[in-house]
Amino acid sequence: MTQFSAWNVIKNGFNGQKGWSRQWRDPEPKANYDIVIVGGGLHGLATAYYLAKNFHLKNIAVVEKGWIGGGNAGRNTTIIRSNYMLKGNREFYEASLTLWENLSHELNYNVMFSQRAHIGLYHTPNALDAAARRYNIMRQTGSDGEIWSRNTIKKKIPHLNFADDARFPIHGALVQKRAGTARHDAVAWGYARAADMLGVDIIQQCEVTSIKRSAQKISSLHTSRGEITANKVAFAVAGNTSRLWQMAELGNLPIESHKLQAFVTEPIKPLLDHVVVFGVAGAHFYISQSDKGGMVFGGDIDWYKSYAQKGNLPIVQDVAECALSLMPCLGRVKLLRHWSGVVDMSMDGSFFMCKTPLDNLYLNAGWNYGGFEASPASGWYFADLIANDRPDKVIQNHDLDRFRRGVHIDERGAGSDPKLHG
Ligand SMILES: Cc1cc2nc3c(=O)[nH]c(=O)nc-3n(C[C@H](O)[C@H](O)[C@H](O)COP(=O)(O)OP(=O)(O)OC[C@H]3O[C@@H](n4cnc5c(N)ncnc54)[C@H](O)[C@@H]3O)c2cc1C
Repeated sequence: MTQFSAWNVIKNGFNGQKGWSRQWRDPEPKANYDIVIVGGGLHGLATAYYLAKNFHLKNIAVVEKGWIGGGNAGRNTTIIRSNYMLKGNREFYEASLTLWENLSHELNYNVMFSQRAHIGLYHTPNALDAAARRYNIMRQTGSDGEIWSRNTIKKKIPHLNFADDARFPIHGALVQKRAGTARHDAVAWGYARAADMLGVDIIQQCEVTSIKRSAQKISSLHTSRGEITANKVAFAVAGNTSRLWQMAELGNLPIESHKLQAFVTEPIKPLLDHVVVFGVAGAHFYISQSDKGGMVFGGDIDWYKSYAQKGNLPIVQDVAECALSLMPCLGRVKLLRHWSGVVDMSMDGSFFMCKTPLDNLYLNAGWNYGGFEASPASGWYFADLIANDRPDKVIQNHDLDRFRRGVHIDERGAGSDPKLHG
């Protein structure tokens, strides 16, 4: 595999770009693997990479029903932050942000990680108290966070709506400067290429259609490209987790599959240097500008359960209203595209990374609004769980049993209703 380097870029500039090799192989599935990861999204690919890199395991496959990065991996609004405060989440997302900071070098692939700062607006003086608590916890635990006054925001982001009668009056913001965005497809391709270089088979167009099991173990996976047996099986299928869970005859999960939409406008000149976010009184909105110039934004999930990767118009209206209330100048920009992904909303809004009732099955699920920023740490800790057959202490409460123990990792304090965890 050709490494990306300044020297190779210059050399290929002179030889008509003929010196680049394939980014990853396209192998036929083998009949048996030590580990099969179902789902070629960011979490599946990152897990395969860290299994091979950190634990020197070789006989691993990632099976993907479509193409890698075709699920939520390539559909998200690419926001990366670590402003979580609850035990477990705090350490996990901070570890993820730290991995992001070196990811392009680690993978020898430019994931275009841009630490452009995450600006969480607040719209009442009281909101500052709650938010300051979160940011103080972050600072006390080695992360970064600061408060910007209304005047500071006005200087830095003059296009926001500072009118006295604004629907969402801006009182200030909580800022994480190390946060930002990355190019989502590049992350999937970077992990795939790096995992492939370490011997992982990445098998696309290979859907798991049924699962054979005994009382305690999965014995084989029936796929659209033949039967595959594996010593260990890992699910990392995001919004399809409940489907795979039922194929394994494991009953129900504390997860609901919901649609989340994203939007992009036509490209415009540089307008917004940061990621700007707010969530207040039922409204939820986040916006940034892509490197191509499009304004990328989104809001809440579609409020009803579905596996369709297609959004509905009420949310389009809702999000457009938020966009215009916050940045009235966007009223003259054309919306280019909108799309949807299927996110797996858990009862407390936090993820699952755990062993399961079956001895050789491992679960990685429950990712919703923050699943993109989580992907490096998700791969890291999930690989550790699979390789060592026990959870690291950081993820030990992210198991399916936590609700029975009374452990709710509820960052929002919204209660046991999946759709409220935005
Ligand atoms: C519109 C939108 C905006 C978002 N914005 C952000 C954001 O700004 N920041 C953030 O941190 N997070 C965001 N997220 C969440 C984040 O994208 C997801 O939580 C994360 O991508 C999920 O993990 P994944 O990449 O592994 O999932 P996916 O990419 O969905 O991977 C799962 C894969 O499993 C495959 N699969 C399913 N069933 C089978 C089967 N039977 N056999 C084989 N393969 C199968 C699917 O085809 C899919 O490719 C957003 C999500 C959406 C939808």
